[in-house]
Amino acid sequence: MSRPYNFSAGPAMLPEAVLERARDEMLDWHGSGMCVAEMSHRGKEFLSIAQQAEADLRELLAVPDNYKVLFLQGGASLQFAMAPMNLLRGADKAGRKADYLSTGSWSKKAIAEAKRFGAVNIAASTEQDGTFTRAPAQAELNLSADAAYLHYTPNETIQGVEFPYVPEASVPLVADMSSTILSRPIDVSRYGVIYAGAQKNVGPAGLTIVIVREDLIGQPIDGTPAMLDYKIHADNDSMYNTPPTYAWYLAGLVFQWLKDLGGLGAMAEINQRKAGKLYAAIDGSGFYANPVQPDCRSWMNVPFTLADANLDAGFLAGAKAAGLLTLKGHRSVGGMRASIYNAMPEAGVDALIEFMAEFERTKG
Ligand SMILES: *Cc1c(COP(=O)(O)O)cnc(C)c1O
Repeated sequence: MSRPYNFSAGPAMLPEAVLERARDEMLDWHGSGMCVAEMSHRGKEFLSIAQQAEADLRELLAVPDNYKVLFLQGGASLQFAMAPMNLLRGADKAGRKADYLSTGSWSKKAIAEAKRFGAVNIAASTEQDGTFTRAPAQAELNLSADAAYLHYTPNETIQGVEFPYVPEASVPLVADMSSTILSRPIDVSRYGVIYAGAQKNVGPAGLTIVIVREDLIGQPIDGTPAMLDYKIHADNDSMYNTPPTYAWYLAGLVFQWLKDLGGLGAMAEINQRKAGKLYAAIDGSGFYANPVQPDCRSWMNVPFTLADANLDAGFLAGAKAAGLLTLKGHRSVGGMRASIYNAMPEAGVDALIEFMAEFERTKG
């Protein structure tokens, strides 16, 4: 029995091999007699799972030794607050400052949250008539000399806008990689902090990955709760309190799946091919359209509209019947959105392209 292809933006598909392995280990993990969800987070079984997952993630991303890898909760949305609370410098709010790039819905939320803790300089905004269709060029960035950090969103999940480059700044770079982490190799040393909710490209919801350079932690702003202090989580190996153990385990299975596949270089080739053929199908039709500037198009989230929005409901119903799920676009953008993260097989993208062509031929 083959499963349908799920194009959800998140929580999103997981690799079938990972789900099968979790199923096989569900009642008895490696002869322990326990499901991973039943284990003490301080027991040797779970510690071995946790350490292996961290080691595999470090290997996949080639994380340098002077970076901490944290397995937290609260989603990327909590990182919108934790990053400023830990990185802003200055005794009072008026003296604290950070630079932000405003490129879509998620960066706007990060900006709104940072404003609670200090001054935000919008170093660039690509908002035009309420929409975002590109990333700013490096030359457009109006960076301030006294910012504690520069925050940006490499992939805007809702608009399908991706930076084709890593911004240069003299201050630490903070990146919300929720919808792009592990989609390709990156140079971690270019960043001060990388964070990502797991539910797009890593694993199930409930786990948040944070990769932070050691020298940036340990100076949170006054009043920061222990649970929001990177240093406390780092000093306790992400076990200051009970971590999301089952989500951590599933993420670990995803890391092993990526390694078996050949690592992030191999994954990047597949992702680029998947995205390339979907954009080619959209551009090659007179019926479908994607508004994003071609060099800023996301590999992961592909929004597209139909020539006639009255056909949207019929498109979605037909897609569902063909085993292509969750293609409805975000309510703020409309139309369709196909999220094609690592776990989406190339055959799923091929099936979508075939369905789109057939729909255009018969209904367009
Ligand atoms: C989904 C998403 C978020 C929000 O993540 P939560 O884990 O739900 O808080 C933030 N940023 C980006 C880029 C996202 O894709």
